[in-house]
Amino acid sequence: MAPPTTSFTTSRINGSTFLIVETDDYGEWPFIYAKQHPTEPILILSDTGCNAPRDKSVKLSNLREYLETYPIFENGGRPLNPIVKSNDGKGSCEREYVVICSHCHYDHIGCIEAFSTTTAQNTTKSFIVASSHDPDFILKDLPTHSLCRFKDPPIETPKYSITHWAHDYGKLYADPEQGIYVRGKLPKIQDVSHLKSLGITFLHTPGHTPDSLAWWDEDERWLYVGDSFYERQKEDMPIIFPAEGNLLHFFHSMQHLLIFVRSENAAEERRTAERERESKHDFEVLSRRIKVGCAHQTAGEDAEEMIMATLRLIMAIVAGKVPVISSKMQRGEPVDLWRESKKARFSVLGPRRLIEDVRDEIERCKREKRPIPLDFNKSVEDIAVPQKLCGPTCQGRVRQERRLNAPRFVMYSSSTTAISLPGPFAADPR
Ligand SMILES: [Zn+2]
Ligand SMILES: [Zn+2]
Repeated sequence: MAPPTTSFTTSRINGSTFLIVETDDYGEWPFIYAKQHPTEPILILSDTGCNAPRDKSVKLSNLREYLETYPIFENGGRPLNPIVKSNDGKGSCEREYVVICSHCHYDHIGCIEAFSTTTAQNTTKSFIVASSHDPDFILKDLPTHSLCRFKDPPIETPKYSITHWAHDYGKLYADPEQGIYVRGKLPKIQDVSHLKSLGITFLHTPGHTPDSLAWWDEDERWLYVGDSFYERQKEDMPIIFPAEGNLLHFFHSMQHLLIFVRSENAAEERRTAERERESKHDFEVLSRRIKVGCAHQTAGEDAEEMIMATLRLIMAIVAGKVPVISSKMQRGEPVDLWRESKKARFSVLGPRRLIEDVRDEIERCKREKRPIPLDFNKSVEDIAVPQKLCGPTCQGRVRQERRLNAPRFVMYSSSTTAISLPGPFAADPR
């Protein structure tokens, strides 16, 4: 029997991960990533799409149902997370869900409610992870912050609870004894030998929104960056800053990511060179550079190169070197579209105010003789990270060696254990 019609298409992007693209009603084409963890019975899901099929007549448009029932060719013809039924008709999926929210915009949380509930028929557990950078952004006025209320007609804002708040450089752990799989911080003095690292690290990347969250899959060497950046591609999609965006924070986040990616690339290069020295074969082994998975349009590009290209473009916009192609009024203020040329790889859409804020800050810094947050006379290759904005892992200049020698910054707090709160929203975690 032929599988049902659906609004999703799936392809494998690496040994454990699939890219699911939704053909949605808003022209967002969300990129959803699903990683079948190689050692633990977990499906890591990066975002949940719009939950709004472009073609209303398709039979299968709910992401969860799709994951649990739709046969995927590149998964040996099996669904990504099939339901295993017991004799009494009840069942659970092969894998528990860890849903990572790249941020709370409507095109990323559209189907999240389906992962917030267990039913008598399907008892699979779900964990929902979001950035701890600014919890209020998710907990207060979600209809505005998700942009649900600005759609025409307005979208009903999904109701869900965050079970785990991801700290910057927080990691995912499995706890086989308690069956709880997500950990934010690591205790300073506590036996954690029974916890298994799942090889996932979270990185706060405020800028597009305060809750923007990137995550790093160290086994596959992929970095997932949400809406921070992506290419225009054939759908001609600009990198968007909503009214809640902040370009100064964005600059800092991108420098933060750049340091991380350069350090990891350098470490891998060194490991590869070491293996090369020890090996007897006569062919050259190439170091696995980090690839990037964006939440729209782009998957599999070189992460370092793309972060640098994005930074260069935004710097050029602030410097007034990129023309405004069109302008419109949105949410009561002028919003501009910047694009270098018709064939340019990226374009940027956002409130004029955000760019002016950066220019004002640069002028203030000059007047007060403070260091400028981003030195526009320097090249991106030589970016200095403003020390006061950084955590202990990212201080001083971008130097690969520095972070290689630094201890890994891992945190854990027992207070983040399995918070499952009633009501539509989790309580303030701070
Ligand atoms: Zn977004
Ligand atoms: Zn988006």
